[in-house]
Amino acid sequence: MTGPTAPRTAAPAAPAPAADPARFRELPARQQPDWPDRDALHAVLAALPPQDLVTRESVAELRRELAQLDAGGGLILQLGDCVEDIDTDITSATCAKIAFLTHFRSHLRTRTGRHTLAVGRLAGQYAKPRSQNHEIAGGLTLPSYRGPIINAPQPTRQARRPDPARIAAAHTAARTAYAAIADHHRATAHLDPLYTSHEMLLLDYELRFLRPGADGADRADGADGTHGAGHHLATTHWPWIGARTRHLDGAHIAVAAALANPVSVKIGPDTSPEEAAALARVLNPCDEPGRLTFIARMGHRDIERLHPVVRAVHRAVEHVHWLSDPMHGNTVTASTGFKTRHVEHIIAELTRFQQILTDTGRRPAGLHLEATPEDVHECTEDGREPTDPARYRTLLDPRLNPQQTARVLAHWFA
Ligand code: PEP
Ligand code: MN
Repeated sequence: MTGPTAPRTAAPAAPAPAADPARFRELPARQQPDWPDRDALHAVLAALPPQDLVTRESVAELRRELAQLDAGGGLILQLGDCVEDIDTDITSATCAKIAFLTHFRSHLRTRTGRHTLAVGRLAGQYAKPRSQNHEIAGGLTLPSYRGPIINAPQPTRQARRPDPARIAAAHTAARTAYAAIADHHRATAHLDPLYTSHEMLLLDYELRFLRPGADGADRADGADGTHGAGHHLATTHWPWIGARTRHLDGAHIAVAAALANPVSVKIGPDTSPEEAAALARVLNPCDEPGRLTFIARMGHRDIERLHPVVRAVHRAVEHVHWLSDPMHGNTVTASTGFKTRHVEHIIAELTRFQQILTDTGRRPAGLHLEATPEDVHECTEDGREPTDPARYRTLLDPRLNPQQTARVLAHWFA
């Protein structure tokens, strides 16, 4: 399957066997829920429909696109919700997100004249890492909300209890979303595909969809620099590892190192240049183009820390793409109490990101944004803070609305 007419999602086929995840289970896995009933968890996982959500071929196609990105001067536009709602009409929500993503792909392509790869935080962005295990909600101290695949956002003890039945519901939502994406691809066969991504966080779920590599070997153990070595993660084209789970000794990085999928890692202000370089060596040992992307989310105040990180990484490996996530380092609390981000801070970080990469002799490869097609008011703009609960609808982090997304994209100059 090589042409643009090929569907990006799995046709019904005999399920592939799962890779043996035992090795990964022995490693420390941070940010995993404390399931009250592990028997129920295992029963739910065993009963999930085993079909792949994404094909090996579509993942390989993304790898090829990423490998050729620098040579072609292309850009990556990765965007979507902080966390996707699954208690909604998934088909229409997915269609709206696809239209939004493809609109801004054309927008960026037209503005820059560059080929632009569209990647959604889409069809599986359901699990959230949290800095605190507990939060105050509705006047109560409750376990933190961890995304719809784990618990529910309502401020009650019952809602916040991790419930394995949610894994089944979230998987059904992902299947429905992938069906909508497949319909989109069938209807637009002459256009460029779009790809999916999510944070590879909830390992019990992700490992259920890990398929052995063609040679049965882990990439990290047997890679020879050729495409196709390594395990296939069948839940998404392009998993990322978040800022709270990127530890070199942890299960998340070990799984990422074993994948044939391209992978990315969030790099924050607390990431030392040495750590970033070590991550680059572990995740891209054969220095393959397109294999590894770092997503810088430093915050506008700490963006200068990116300089030494970029230099250290490129002493370790040549081939790394750099994306800017100018959202996650810029989260503040508004005077109205809402969690927010100032569009001006987002623009300031994005601007410095491009200058720093360019000054270091590297190419900024694109953006990673939390943004929604809905007319929300979650981010603060020109001092206007969110005030209206009806226009503040995110389940977790504040997103850019379409006008704000356009304003931020206008500051891409690279
Ligand atoms: C996110 O992307 O929603 C997220 C939690 O990011 P980070 O890991 O960079 O904090
Ligand atoms: Mn977020």
